Order: sequence, then structure tokens, then C-alpha cells
Amino acid sequence: MNLEKIEKLARELIEEIGESPDREGLKETPKRMAKSFEKIFGGYGEDPKKMLTQFDGENYDEMIICKDIDFYSTCEHHMQPFFGKISIGYIPDKKIIGISKLPRLVEIFSRRLQNQERLTMQIATTLTDMLKPKGVGVVVNARHLCMMARGVEKQNTLMTTSYCTGLFKKNAKTRSEFLRLI
Ligand code: ZN
Repeated sequence: MNLEKIEKLARELIEEIGESPDREGLKETPKRMAKSFEKIFGGYGEDPKKMLTQFDGENYDEMIICKDIDFYSTCEHHMQPFFGKISIGYIPDKKIIGISKLPRLVEIFSRRLQNQERLTMQIATTLTDMLKPKGVGVVVNARHLCMMARGVEKQNTLMTTSYCTGLFKKNAKTRSEFLRLI
């Protein structure tokens, strides 16, 4: 990311909406915007494959769940934030990963221009591809500012998406156990 260029564009944007970028409160805003983009869109430079260190599961073969991981992402249609909670579950087959890696995975895929469906699917399929578990389930609950502040202006609408692989998809009992636990 070229922060200087983003700063320049942010200044133009402020001008274009009818503001004066040189007034006291806005003077440092382009710089702050550029800086915040580094975090908000920081997921592009990260490779999930490098991050998912695996351990021997020592025959543990029950469900592992990381529940209510907070996330902040940006909707690719309006460039407005959407945010909420993500729950991830998997049943290992020989390999497990450190539990802190699941929030890391959420960070990598949410800190990009996204839609909620793709975000849900990318987390589930990446975990499935890398860990080759018996199954993965991902549930995302989110509020979209593009829906709250504009468009239909609905404040309390929660959008839910889910994506399942393996046993979570094939076996209704596994799926309902996962949904009960989260
Ligand atoms: Zn949107």
C-alpha cells in the first residue's frame, strides 16, 4: 500500500463531498485514513498457509470449537464496514491447530474488501484444505452499515451465513451438535 497516494486520494475525496480538507478538524484526516487502511485492508499481504502450524492431535477426535470471534470487515459493494461474530468448529483427523490460529484466520480474510458469503466460505475451505479434518462448520452473524446507514436503513437486522464441509455437511447429528454448542 502506498500510504502517500492514499492520503492524496483521501484529501480529494474530502474536497469532493464539499468539505475543506484544510480546516482544523480535517487537516490530519487523510493521514489518519491512510494509516487506518493499513489495518482495515491488512489481510491482503497475509498467507494463511504460512500461519496454520499443525500439531499431532493425539487421537482427539471430538469437535473443537472457537466461538464468537469478533471481526470487522468491509463490504465490497459500498466500502462500508460490516462486523459481528464468527464461530468455527472442526473435527480433527490426526492434526489439530493452535486455537489462536482460528482468530488469525478470521483476521486474514476479514481485513479485505469482502462479502459475507465469501468470507464464510473462505474460512471453512481454507481450514478444510490445510488440515484435512473430518469436517468444518463456520457460522457468521453480522451487521452491515450499508444496510443500517443507507439503503433500507434497518438498524437491527442481523445477517447470518454458514458453510459446512465433511461430516458437518453430511451428518445432521454433527451439524446440530455444532449449532447447539455455539
Ligand atoms: Zn454493502
